[in-house]
Amino acid sequence: MSSPEQLPLLPADPPRWGGPAAVAADPIRTQGRTEYAVRCEACGNLHRHIAPGVRTGPCGATYTVPDAEEEAPPP
Ligand SMILES: [Zn+2]
Repeated sequence: MSSPEQLPLLPADPPRWGGPAAVAADPIRTQGRTEYAVRCEACGNLHRHIAPGVRTGPCGATYTVPDAEEEAPPP
């Protein structure tokens, strides 16, 4: 916050640069790709996305789907 001029390339944390908040996502590995099931905080339903990042659900809510590959496992 104190150095707004130093922005990293492709930040992994969109909320830091003004993006929508990240939501809890369950990666679902299917044949050939990974899907992300997120519980929408706006409508309470599960929405599926085929890629992480800033997504808009079918209900119109916008949120950030975290990248499971980059997330460190809990200690
Ligand atoms: Zn929704």
